[in-house]
Amino acid sequence: MQQAISFERSRLVGVAAATTALGALTGNWAVCYAIGGFGLASYNIWRGTQVARWLTASGPEPALYEGLWAFLVSQIHRERQQNRKNRRDINQLLKRYRDSAEALPDAAVLIDNQRQIQWANSKARELLGIDGVADRGHRVDNLLRDPAVQPLFASHNPVREAQTQSPTDEKVRLTLRLSRFGSGALLVAHDISTILAAQEMRQTFVANASHELRTPLTVIAGHLELMSDDPHTDADTVQSLRSAMRESDRMLMIVEDLLTLTSLEHSQLRDDQCVDIAVAAETRQAIEALTKTPLGAERNIAMDLDPTLRLRGRSSEIMSVVQNLLSNALRHTDAAGQITVRWQRDADGLPTFSVEDQGDGIAPEHLNHLTERFYRVDAGRSREIGGTGLGLSIVKHILSRHGGDLRIDSRLGEGSTFSARFPPLRAR
Ligand code: ADP
Repeated sequence: MQQAISFERSRLVGVAAATTALGALTGNWAVCYAIGGFGLASYNIWRGTQVARWLTASGPEPALYEGLWAFLVSQIHRERQQNRKNRRDINQLLKRYRDSAEALPDAAVLIDNQRQIQWANSKARELLGIDGVADRGHRVDNLLRDPAVQPLFASHNPVREAQTQSPTDEKVRLTLRLSRFGSGALLVAHDISTILAAQEMRQTFVANASHELRTPLTVIAGHLELMSDDPHTDADTVQSLRSAMRESDRMLMIVEDLLTLTSLEHSQLRDDQCVDIAVAAETRQAIEALTKTPLGAERNIAMDLDPTLRLRGRSSEIMSVVQNLLSNALRHTDAAGQITVRWQRDADGLPTFSVEDQGDGIAPEHLNHLTERFYRVDAGRSREIGGTGLGLSIVKHILSRHGGDLRIDSRLGEGSTFSARFPPLRAR
C-alpha cells in the first residue's frame, strides 16, 4: 500500500511540476493549474468509473498496474476470490451435511420458532409424509395431527419424546424426539415397529408359558397337600413334602405375578374401569385382612389416612400397590420395627400413598434397579421370606398406568419410605 501511496504522491508532484513549467513558459499560471487539476480529477473519475462498473459486474476488470486505484482493485479482487472460495467450502460442507442427513435411517425435519418446516430429509417423506420441498413453510403441527404428538411442540413444559403411528403406514410405530437449538428445533422420527413387535412376542411368550405352567403347578400342589395330610405318611416325608409345597406355592405366586404384569403391559387403563376410591377405608380393610395372615399377624402398623381423600382409578390395581408396598415393608422389617402407612397429599399437593418402615434399608446403588423384574438386593433372602422379585415391577406399571410415579427414600440399616404419587387430576 505504501508503494501505491508513494506512486500517487509522485504523480501529484509530476503534474504540479509540469503545470508549473507550462505556467512559466506561457505566463498563464491560472489556466495551466486549472488544466492540471482538471486533468487529474478527470483521470480519477475515469478510473473510479471503471472500478465501479467492474464492481457492479457490468464491466471488465480494469487493467491497472500502479497507484492507489490498482491497489484497491487488486485488494477487492483478492477478497472476491477468497469469498468465492469460502462460499464453495460452505456449499460443500452444507452438501456433506445434507448427504449425511439423507443417509440417516431416521426422518429428520428442521423447524423454525414458528414451527414452520425449513427442511426435511427424504426419510421424512417415507415415515412422516413430510416433503422437504413441497411442505416448506407449512406448520409441522398441522401436518402431524395425532394429539399424542402435540405436547412435543408446546412452549410450556414441552415433552421431549412421543410415540405415534406413521401417517403414511398405520402398521409403523414411531418415536418422535424434538431437540431445540437456537431459535429452531430438529424433529427426529425413529421407526420402532420391530422393537415393539419383539417386545410383544416376548410378552406373549411369557403370558403363554405362565398359563401353561399354572395348571400343572396347581395339580402338583394339590397332590403334595394330599400326600402330606395322609396319616400314613411318615414325619420325614411330611417335612420333605411341606418343603416341596412351599416351593410349588412360590412358583405359583411367580406365575400369578407374571400374568398380572403381562396383563398390565398389554392393556391401557380405560376410564370405564376407574371409580372414585375412598382410599382410607379400602386401605384400612386391606391392612386388617393382612394382619390376619402369618405375614401381618401381631405387627406394629400405624395408620395416617386422610378420610377425605378420594382417588380416581382402578380399585383392584390401587389396592395391589397398597398390598405390595406394605407386604414388602413387613417382610423387610423385624417384628419390633414400626411401619407407618399414609394416604395424604404431599408437599406439592399430590395424592400420595406411602409406607415407611424401620427395616433393613437399601444401599443407594440398588435404588434405581428395584423396579426391574426379578431384581433383588439379596436374592437368597428374598426367596426365604417369600418374595417373587416382581412386586415393585407391578407397582411401577400400575402407577404409570395411572399417571403416577414411585419414589424410594432409603438408608441402609435405618429403614425405607416407598411413596406412590398420583397426579392431581386423579384426586376427587
Ligand atoms: P420381592 O418380591 O423380592 O420383595 P420386589 O420387587 O417387591 O420383590 O422388591 C425388590 C427388592 O427390593 C426386594 O428383593 C428387596 O431387596 C428390596 N425391597 C423392597 N421393599 C423393601 C423394603 N421395604 N425394605 C428393604 N428392601 C426392600
